[in-house]
This record gives sequence, structure tokens and C-alpha cells, in this order.
Amino acid sequence: MNLTSPVSNLHKIGNILNARLKRLGIGTVRDLLYFFPFRYEDYSHVVRIAELSAGTEVTICAQIEMIAAKRSPRKRTLITEAVVSDDTGQLRIIWFGQPFIAKQLHQGEWVYFSGSVKEDMFGVSMVSPSYEKMKRVPEHTSTPHCGAHEHETIHTARIVPMYPLTRGLTQKQMRFLMSQVIDLVSEIPEWLSNDIRDTADVMGIGEAMRQIHFPDDARSLQHAERRMKFDEVFLLQLRAVLSRRSRTAHPAPRIAFHETETKAFVAGLPFSFTKAQKVAAWEIVKDLGKDIPMNRLLEGDVGSGKTVVAALVAYNAVLSGYQVAIMAPTEILAKQHFQSFCSLLPQSKVGLLTSGDIRYSIFDIQAKTHKKLREEIKKKMRTGGAEIIIGTHALLTEDVAFRNLGLVIVDEQHRFGVAQRKTLKEKMEQSGTVPHFLSMTATPIPRSFALALYGDLDISIINEMPAGRKPVKTRLVDLHNREKAYAFIREQVKQGRQGFVVCPVIGGQSEIMEHGTWNIEHRQMFVHEKKTVMAEYEKLSKQVFSDLRVGFLHGKMRAQEKEKTMKEFREGSIDILVSTSVVEVGVDVPNASVMMIEGAEGFGLAQLHQFRGRVGRSNHQSYCFLFTDSTSGKVQERLSFFEKNTDGFKVAEYDLAQRGPGEVYGTMQSGLSELRFATMQDGTLIKLAREIAEDIDFDKYPTVKERVREWESVVHLE
Ligand code: ADP
Ligand code: MG
Repeated sequence: MNLTSPVSNLHKIGNILNARLKRLGIGTVRDLLYFFPFRYEDYSHVVRIAELSAGTEVTICAQIEMIAAKRSPRKRTLITEAVVSDDTGQLRIIWFGQPFIAKQLHQGEWVYFSGSVKEDMFGVSMVSPSYEKMKRVPEHTSTPHCGAHEHETIHTARIVPMYPLTRGLTQKQMRFLMSQVIDLVSEIPEWLSNDIRDTADVMGIGEAMRQIHFPDDARSLQHAERRMKFDEVFLLQLRAVLSRRSRTAHPAPRIAFHETETKAFVAGLPFSFTKAQKVAAWEIVKDLGKDIPMNRLLEGDVGSGKTVVAALVAYNAVLSGYQVAIMAPTEILAKQHFQSFCSLLPQSKVGLLTSGDIRYSIFDIQAKTHKKLREEIKKKMRTGGAEIIIGTHALLTEDVAFRNLGLVIVDEQHRFGVAQRKTLKEKMEQSGTVPHFLSMTATPIPRSFALALYGDLDISIINEMPAGRKPVKTRLVDLHNREKAYAFIREQVKQGRQGFVVCPVIGGQSEIMEHGTWNIEHRQMFVHEKKTVMAEYEKLSKQVFSDLRVGFLHGKMRAQEKEKTMKEFREGSIDILVSTSVVEVGVDVPNASVMMIEGAEGFGLAQLHQFRGRVGRSNHQSYCFLFTDSTSGKVQERLSFFEKNTDGFKVAEYDLAQRGPGEVYGTMQSGLSELRFATMQDGTLIKLAREIAEDIDFDKYPTVKERVREWESVVHLE
């Protein structure tokens, strides 16, 4: 038996069990060993019967005096009752509905029982404890040395692993299987040399794996977890180092800072920059001036003014004679950016290229057909006639070429799939020099976390809202206050404002996550979305707001229809827009002051925060109403946190702690799904991993190099 042996070779595995393991992705011994507990029960505390007190979680080791199964007279359920004893006293144990127990345990046997202790009028007892026979009967039965047998047990008398299981598979079975293969951890190759392990203060991989499944004690477990976490964050950091080294291998064009023109640009704006905007703009401009390709993330809450910063830097690139490509995750957003850039930079030649039917461009192109128009725009990109080109990912997938691309700006990069980012990278490399790269996101990613995730990234954060913005008032609306909320919205509309109604996600967010959250073209999802949107639209337009102008937006609509609706909404001829999460990113309608979210429990807080950012974009007081049918305490707690906190970074941190990075940012984020042990809280370890990674000479550490390669091929990184 070795790591590659199929688990079906294991003792006591039949076809059914094998199939269930398959469902968990377990085919080989290695898979099994890499199937980790998601929590532990601490049953390591072995006490004597006389010491038992109600409410504690303990293990006792005792001899069975009597055991029998019987039917409870009233409830007709089957119960197994036992009386056990050690040299300090007797204890009653009861199990409900597990008739086989009376056949497995026999009078006279010594057994460990782990569980919680209850007390009632008959004295203390244990209800439905886990049990495990002792392998050896204590030598002196009057004083059993249970501790001496600690490591022989797998279900009791120790810190017990609890695995994330599937139906028809029990913790007991899983632990039993694991105990059969656990010694094979010694075959897991060590990829960290002794000196790295010493510096990082981590144990060997084999021992760590053993302790993760069957920890000796809490300290060993903690130490083992440190090793597992280190492996993850170290790999991320190594990738970052490699990526930085390869990025800096090709030069980028130096883009000079055009001070006079930039000053004129800023002076021409109807507002002055916030301090944070100035700092961010300056950081980017400085990067552009170097011949090292920039790789910077511009983070800022919705409405913090990232677009105008992007325009300022794009302007500098254009002034230096370089082209700029700007990519947005949806056509609506691409269109919106197009409009923003046209009005912010009227002197520049801005073009729009999307896969849909939108035919905008400021070029004076006379083309009969849509196809011809696109060809013309592409030609302008090739020849340099277009200075700024805005599009969706179509910009990448199509056969487009640039004359001298100097800067790429990607809005909401995480919405692009990994494959698309890969195409982008290849496209960039084709052009000989490597363009500077700026990504923008309104998803607040705490700096420490961003560093862990994208170690090869510089970060600018706009953590300040333009003056005069009023925080959005957020309310979790009770069911019986729904009418009041509707009345409030009507009142806002009477005052000239507009509102959004966001419909719930079918099956909750997790279901969509499985299909890849950010693949907004997912057909099935659109069909569902359309249904909910139309139902809500019917209700609101015919009943609740029959006197108002209600519109709708969903993913099954054609680009032209969507476009028309957005235009109407922007121009104020629609009062209330019922939509799917399409409005989540970027849609800019400053006059909208109410955001109503149905089925709020189905969205993560980070996403709710994006919705909330659709309003409060002017000096009108804005409101966000959350509706939920869920009465779960957890949901209520989460939503009321959201109600009280308007700072996107606070919301993101809370969300990360509650749901983990994969859920918050989507598992499509490369590397994220690989973080099984490390969390946001591991800042110190991340820093250490970063320091070690930065000094690594890959030629001296072949196993490290090999491991990074292997890992990259598994997770398909950019
Ligand atoms: P983001 O892209 O970060 O969500 P935008 O760039 O779309 O934000 O800006 C939101 C709105 O705020 C836009 O209408 C923009 O013109 C305006 N704006 C940007 N910066 C400022 C500022 N410093 N003061 C006032 N308004 C601003
Ligand atoms: Mg924006």
C-alpha cells in the first residue's frame, strides 16, 4: 500500500462506501490523507466518574456492568441503556435510536465514553456519547490508567477529528479509514529543506499531516496547523516572487508625467480631488514613469472616485503617445466608462468595442453594418487611430491588436475568469514590451489580505469619500413594515428621486458560486433570474406602484434592450428599476436614492455593500432597505452588522471572518480555493513567508521550484 493505492484496497471498504468517498473526491490514499478535518472535539480530558459535573465535555473510561436495548414506553423509540463503573463510582448512559450498540458493547468490557455530562433528578448521566473499546484491559482494573492508552483511540479520549462528510458516511467510518492509512504520511515528500523549516519554525510535513488528523494534544495541533498554513502562504508568496521576477524581465514603456496638462485636467473638473485620490493618482503616475511594468490595484469604495483617477493616468499615457485599453466586466459598465471617458477627456480619441450590439464610438466612422463598424474600430486600434479603447473581455478574446499599448486598466478584475486573464497576459506579451497594468476594484480587500493573495501587487487605496456625501441610511425592514417601506419609496419618487429593487438569487449565493459566480453568462442562472425579476416587476408595476413608472433589467435581455432600459432610468423616465444583481457593479445614476434588496440573506455582505453603493452618489440622502424572510439568528446578526456599518473595509473584514475568502471573493480568484488553513488572521506568518520567499534562490532549492510548478499546473494560475 502506498500513496497512490486506491482506497478500495482498504480494509472494510465495499462498493457503496467507495462510491461515497468518490463523491468527496477521494480515490487514492493520498486523497484520503489530504481530506482534512474541519473541526475537532476535544475529548482528551479523561476523568473519573466521581469527578463528573454537568455541562462538561469529557471522556471517562469505565467497565460495563449492564447493557440493554428497550423500547421507551411512551414514545415508542428505541433506547439503549447502560450502567458503567470505575473505581470511583457508577454512571448511567443512554443512547437513543441506535439499537446496534447493545450488540457491540458487552458486560465486562472496558470502554471509553466521550460526550457531554447531563444532570437530572436521577443524578449525572451521559447521553449518546461516542464510545470506543479499550484495546488492552487496564492491568489494575481498580485504577485504570486511561491516559496510557490515549494514542490508541481514534474516536474518544483524545482530540477527535470531525470531517466534512457526505450522506451515508459517518465520522466513525472516516476516522477508521484514516487510521488505516495515517502511517503513510511518512511517504509524503518533504519539499521544505531543513534551513527553511528552521527559519519558518515549522515541523516536517509528515508529522504535521499526522497531527492534523490525530493530534496528540492542542499544542501539537496548533503547531501542525502552522505548518499547513505556512505551506499555503509560502506557495502564494513564491508565486508572487516568480511572477515579479518574470514581469520585470521585460521592460515597460516609460510614460512621462505631463504636469501642465494634468493640472489643466484637474482644474477643469467640477470638483477637487480628495486627498486619497491625489495620493493614488500620484502613486500610479510615479509607477508609469519607470520602465518596470506597473502592477497596481486601485481599491476604493463605490463612489470614491476611481474612474476620474483612471482618466487622469490614461490621459498621461495618451499624451506620451501610448494607447490605453480599459476593460469592464459587463457591457453596461463598458458603456458607462465610455461615456465617462468621453466627457472627462474630450480631446482624446475614445472607442468602444463590445461583443453586443452597442454601436458607440466618437469616431466619425461611416459603416453600414455593425460588423463593418467593428472592423473599422479594430483597424483604428491597429493603426493607433484610437487612443483609448474601452470594452468588455471581448477586447481580449477577439483578434484585436494594438499599435502601441502602454497601459491596461481592468475594472473589477476578479470578475474576469482566470482563462480571460491568461489571454490578457499573453496578449500583452505579444506586443514586445509589457504594458503597465492597473486594476480597479470596489470590493474592499484589506491590505494584509491583498498582500497574501496577490503578493506581486502594489496597492493604492482610496479610503475617503468626496466631500458632501451622506452615508447611506441602511435598514433591515421587518416583515410588517414592508408597506411602510413602499410608502417611503413612493415619497422619495414624489420628491424626484429614483429607486432600485434587487431581486433575490435563486437557491442562495452558494449555488451560483458552484457555477462560478462571476460567469455572468451562465444560462441557467439567467433563466431563474428572469423569472424572479418578472414576478417582482408584475407585482410592483401592477399593484404596489401602479401609479409609478417601473422598469426591469435581467440577464436574458438583449444588450440593446438593457441599454434602452438603462438609458431610460438614467434619464429619469423610469422611477423604479427592478433588477438582478446586474446593478451590482458600477451603474451610475446619481439621482437614485433608494436601494431595496429582496432576499438579502442570499447575498454576502460584500455584495450587499456593492448594491448599497449604487445609491448615495449625490448629495441627496440615500437609503438602503433590506428584506429577508429568514428568521435565523445568524442571518439577523449578519444583516444587522451591515445595517450599522457603512465602511466597506469593515464590512469586508467581517464578511471574510464569517464566510472565508472563497465565498466573499469567489473561488474563481486564483489561489483562494487553495487556502484551506491560512486565514486573514495569519498576517505575521504571511509576512514571514514573504520574507523567506523573497530571498529564495530557486536553483538552490529544486524541491521548492518543483512544488511551485506542480501547484501552478494544478490551480491554473494566470
Ligand atoms: P467609483 O468608480 O470609485 O465607484 P466614480 O469614479 O464613478 O466612483 O465616482 C462617483 C461619482 O463621484 C462620479 O459622478 C464622479 O464624478 C464623482 N466624483 C469623483 N471624485 C469626486 C470628488 N473628489 N469630489 C466630488 N465628486 C467626485
Ligand atoms: Mg466605478
